[in-house]
Amino acid sequence: TDACLDAIEGADALGAFVHNTPDLAREQAKAADARIQAGDAPDMCGIPLGIKDLFCTKGVPSQAASRILEGFTPEYESTVSQNLLDNGTIMLGKLNMDEFAMGSSNETSCYGNAVNPWRRGNEDTALTPGGSSGGSASAVAADLCLGATGTDTGGSIRQPAAFTGITGIKPTYGRCSRWGVVAFASSLDQAGPMTKSVRDAAIMLEAMCGHDAKDSTSADLAVPNFEAMLTGDIKGKKIGIPKEYRMDGMPDEIEALWAKGADMLRDAGAEIVDISLPHTKYALPAYYVIAPAEASSNLARYDGVKYGHRATLEAGDGINDMYEKTRAEGFGSEVQRRVMVGTYVLSAGFYDAYYNRARRVRTLIKKDFDDVFAQGVDAILTPATPSAAFGLGEMKNADPVKMYLNDVFTVTVNLAGLPGIAIPAGLDAQGLPLGLQLIGRPWEEGDLLNIAHEVE
Ligand code: GLN
Repeated sequence: TDACLDAIEGADALGAFVHNTPDLAREQAKAADARIQAGDAPDMCGIPLGIKDLFCTKGVPSQAASRILEGFTPEYESTVSQNLLDNGTIMLGKLNMDEFAMGSSNETSCYGNAVNPWRRGNEDTALTPGGSSGGSASAVAADLCLGATGTDTGGSIRQPAAFTGITGIKPTYGRCSRWGVVAFASSLDQAGPMTKSVRDAAIMLEAMCGHDAKDSTSADLAVPNFEAMLTGDIKGKKIGIPKEYRMDGMPDEIEALWAKGADMLRDAGAEIVDISLPHTKYALPAYYVIAPAEASSNLARYDGVKYGHRATLEAGDGINDMYEKTRAEGFGSEVQRRVMVGTYVLSAGFYDAYYNRARRVRTLIKKDFDDVFAQGVDAILTPATPSAAFGLGEMKNADPVKMYLNDVFTVTVNLAGLPGIAIPAGLDAQGLPLGLQLIGRPWEEGDLLNIAHEVE
């Protein structure tokens, strides 16, 4: 814990932590020492972690990287972070992210962006750590903590993991409780671990997840010992390569990486099969209807009355002025864009044309996966991202759809509620990490981790 706290102090330039809790961390470390000495410590006891700012942490500011939550200090702890604390982990502080987890570069944060510890060749250009869990990825990659929590609504664990050369798993929807995690798109949001290795991810996931009566979508299933499932034996596993993920203009190095991943799995005894997920091309548009729709509804609660920021009012201002001014000042431009898109697609005249149609597409995407799994496929291998980390600022002011295209390989997994993992799989020509993604059957994270273990 002390070594991590020192490292964090020396790494201000990364902007990974937005709120440090050194005193709390030392106190928790002492308690962990006592548990270890008493001989009843769980595996995670004494492990220093960073917690994404989206998780409510009792007595510690939790702002979801938004101005609108300025001054909000929760009276309660999210179930996931509480589960980790019960396992004896140490919280070093809160990690940077895109505002309300909306983004792919960490550039929508009210704190300013986190930075990727990696550099392109000998260039000085600062690169994005990805998003929205950019602070988590940067902190783990730079050894500021041994693991971090992330959340993933459309790729926010897997894309930053790929951009920083670490591992991140989005579990099956319902595996981790969403209670106390600031909601973005409730039917897509899942928490998961971001770590240096698949083994660490297995250990940390086990500590995070489990049934929670406070989240009605939390699954009432026993938590497996994921680490014990890393047997190293994947003989006879069927790995699908979906042809629809071979996009036009895919860079050669991403193609090569994908082929290398398939070779590694084949060498380990898996059978590689070509598969088809025919509705893939509709996933991104469906996601960018469903996620903003749910977000616009979830974000209605930030009205200047209940939490955080309230605009200064002038004489004669009424309650509507208070809402409008507060929301105009408190939400950044990407969040405002999502609220507007979401409100539009949910409005009476357009509900059927957009929202309902997107929901039907979602069902078809889920069915594509069900069909492939019914054919005996155990996991699906794809690239995690269409490119390596890009420069900060390079995409920010471009057409927002360009930024959304980053999520092209990851959003299908959230729409279908499946587990997906990103694992580091090599470097590009400029020395930047590239990641592969493996998608698993629902509730079979253990199997997925075991297969991923053979590729890392
Ligand atoms: N980049 C995607 C978005 O902006 C995904 C974000 C996430 O997974 N939280 O919506």
